[in-house]
Formats: sequence, C-alpha cells, structure tokens
Amino acid sequence: MLKINKNKKNISRILFCAAEAAPLAKVGGLADVVGSLPQALKIQDIDARILMPAHGSISLSNWKAKKINSFEVKIGKKKENVSIWQIKIKNITYYLLQNSTYFKGKVYEGDNANKYLFFARAALKALTLLPFKPQIIHAHDFHAASILTGLASSTRSKRPGLVLTIHNLQSQGWTEEKTLLKFGFSIEDFKFLDKRKKYTGWINLLTAGIKSADKITTVSPTYAKEILTAEYGYGLEKLLKSRRQDLVGILNGIDVKTYNPADDKRLAQKYSSKDVLVGKQVNKRVVRSYMNLVDDHSPLFVFIARFSNQKGLDLFKSKDLLRLQKKFPFQLMILGSGEKKYEQMMLAVNKDLPDSMRTIIAFDETLAHNLYAAADYFLVPSKFEPCGLTQMMAMRYGAVPIVRATGGLKDTVIDKETGLVFNQYTSKNFINTLKQALEIYYNQPALYRKIRSNGLKQDWSWQASAPKYKNLYQDV
Ligand code: ADP
Repeated sequence: MLKINKNKKNISRILFCAAEAAPLAKVGGLADVVGSLPQALKIQDIDARILMPAHGSISLSNWKAKKINSFEVKIGKKKENVSIWQIKIKNITYYLLQNSTYFKGKVYEGDNANKYLFFARAALKALTLLPFKPQIIHAHDFHAASILTGLASSTRSKRPGLVLTIHNLQSQGWTEEKTLLKFGFSIEDFKFLDKRKKYTGWINLLTAGIKSADKITTVSPTYAKEILTAEYGYGLEKLLKSRRQDLVGILNGIDVKTYNPADDKRLAQKYSSKDVLVGKQVNKRVVRSYMNLVDDHSPLFVFIARFSNQKGLDLFKSKDLLRLQKKFPFQLMILGSGEKKYEQMMLAVNKDLPDSMRTIIAFDETLAHNLYAAADYFLVPSKFEPCGLTQMMAMRYGAVPIVRATGGLKDTVIDKETGLVFNQYTSKNFINTLKQALEIYYNQPALYRKIRSNGLKQDWSWQASAPKYKNLYQDV
C-alpha cells in the first residue's frame, strides 16, 4: 500500500521576490521565469505571488493597480515612503513596492547594491503588512537575496522557508559595511566573509544569500555542476560546494502560451508545425522587407540577446562572415542592447556587411517574436549560459538553434537532432558551425527539415519542472 510521506510538508503559499517579472518589467530571462513559473505552480495547487519594485518604467494606472498599504522605512537619517500596490494578471497576484527615491528608473538603472538593499529593507517590512502569509520566500538572484539574509537569523519554526534561485552568478552585488548599516541591516548577518581574499570591507550580497537560504536552486542541471568549478563559479565555487547538499539545478521552462506561433498576435502570419514552411516564409518576407533586405533564397540567421560578455558577441568577425558568405550566401539579423562596447562592435560588423546584415540596438519584444518566426537558424554562442530561454523559443518557432555546449544550452539542444552544437569558445569553432549549418541548409534540405521538426516537437513548458519546485518546497 502506498503511504503518504510524512516528511513532506504541505506547501501552498509561496512569495517570489525579484527585480523583474514579465509582463510588468523585463530585461532578460529572469522576468520570463518569474512571470511564468507561478502559472505552472497554480496547477500544482500552489498560490505563488510576486513581490517586486514598482519601477518607474511600469505604468501602475495602465495595469489597474490597487494601493493596499503604505509605510515608512528609515534609511540613514532619511525617512522613505513606500506604497504597496497590487496587480492581478491572469489570476496571478503581483505586489509592487513604490518609492520615489530608489525605484524611479528602469530595472537596473542607478546603483544596484543600494537599490536592491532598499528593496530588501522595504520587502522585510512589507512582509509584515501583506494580506498574504507565505510559507516560503523564494528569492531570485542577488537583488532579492538580502531579504533571505534579513530573515535567516530567526529560528526555522519562527520564519518561512528560504529558497534562493541563482539565475546568473556573474552578478553578485557588492557593498560596504557602512551601507548595510545605513539600510538597517546587521553586519553580522552578512559577515560570512569571502574566504578567497582577505576581508576588504566589501560585502557580497549573493554570498550572504547563499549562506542564508535553506535551499538553493539554479536554472539547469549542467549549470548546477558548472558553478562548482573555478571556470564558472565567479569566486563562489567553494562556498557553493560547501552547500552542495542543498543545491539543485532545475531546468527553466517558457511560457508556451505567450510563445506560441499558432496564436501569436505579434506575427504577420500565425503558423503551427503543420504549415511551418509557408508560415515561416511569409514571416521571413515581411521581416526582410521591414529591414530593407532583399528577399532571396538565402537562409536567415538571427541573434537576440542582452549585450554582455556572456553572450558570445566577440565571436562575430566580419572577415570570417564575409569569407563564408562568398561560398554560401546568408543574411544575419542582430537584435539587442546593453554594454556600449558590444553595441559598437555589432554596428561595426554591420558596416562591413551592409547588404546582408542588420544590427538593431533596441529592446523590442514585437520585433523579437517576429525574428523568432522568420529565422532559419538562431544563434546562441554563449561563453556561459545558466539556462538560456532563447534557444527554446527559437525551437518553438521552428528556428534551428546553433549553440555552444554550456549550461542549459547543453541540456536543451542535441547536436544534429534538434540543433547544432559546438564546444570550444573560439571564433573558428563558431564559424565552422555556421558553415556546417549552411551546408545542411543548401545541400541536405531533408536533414534541415528533420532537425527543425524535431525542435518543434519538444515540450518547453513548465510541466516537467514545476513539480520539481513543488517537491523542493516541501523539503524546506
Ligand atoms: P538572459 O536572461 O541572460 O538575458 P535568456 O535567454 O534567459 O537570457 O532570456 C532572454 C529573454 O529576453 C528572452 O525572452 C528574449 O527573447 C528576451 N530578449 C533579449 N534581448 C531582447 C531584445 N533586445 N528585445 C526583445 N527581447 C529580448
């Protein structure tokens, strides 16, 4: 007879704390995850709500936000006013903290350590006022990690369970002792000093969050292993190793309703796997005309990302691309924004390929959806990639991903089955893989169609991963 596992707790109320959440504020994949996992948890009988800053870029009136409370927090000698707003989107409750000093601008504008220490301070107070009493606080990245640190000193029976998800280890949040004091934190709670170096007076907010959390997750099984190594650990590998028992990699899913070519209002033409050929042709023609590129028979490569050192932008070399084009014509569209250095780099490559390439420096979701739909190949040559969502979105839209074997890319793309995969992070390897992709496109169309159709058959929903989160919550 099957017995109920008495060690498993009954968990039904979770509060996600994060800097960004779709559709309210999005910079990258973090927003996609925070905005879509609660929907999937609902099916697991979990009411997951979201607590985030009311960034100046969010129009509270457009979202019909309701003010539910307000309070003051003291930061140094100054009193800061915080209002709590509530928004319901597709039956998910978002709580937004509004403050005119720290949350005026965009998600990561300004001094992020200060901004997110303020978020933590305000969130800790808001927790005592919210009508919702979570059993678990699930913090995402360093931006919310200090909420856990502020709670961890209470005994477990007197506080909620604390879960931290690391979406990207590169961004850790550094601050000084005096700043912690200013924001009303006890230095002792943060002082698990970094054994790597002598104490310099600087404190790492993510380190403190990792120490404080009852359980730590990251966003793919491969990245969970990688971050235990010096190459990917960004200096935290030893600490993470010491918490190995509590660390698990759970693969992200995507919101398959928002990313659905058969029902995507942003597309010139909707399509499903049954009419993918025609659907993509029409979308490709429209995108080419919009971008003022000739409508020929060449394949279209697309790249969409935040421009940072993580994403492989330095692998795009004009000379290599031009040489390759002589043998196999192709077009290339790049959409992204971020570090100026990379924006200039990609605009310069574009100058060298004026007739076949377009670099668009922007964050444009409508264009992104249209590019997924138009692309024959989608490029994700990342140096590291905790999970990566764009390769999943690409497959969902019938674009064949070309990825480097790292992090979640390794877990989601199979070479010559659902995409093309290269190992070493070098321009040579990258360009050789593009060459291979072109050979397949031009000379082995049946293989190209097979890879694309395998990709279209994959299930990228949260169906597999949401129960893993539930299981983890029950063990906290
Ligand atoms: P990361 O979180 O490292 O930025 P992910 O692959 O996890 O990368 O997620 C990126 C998300 O952001 C995807 O939804 C992608 O479509 C979107 N995105 C990235 N850059 C842009 C852009 N310039 N315009 C529109 N959407 C973008």
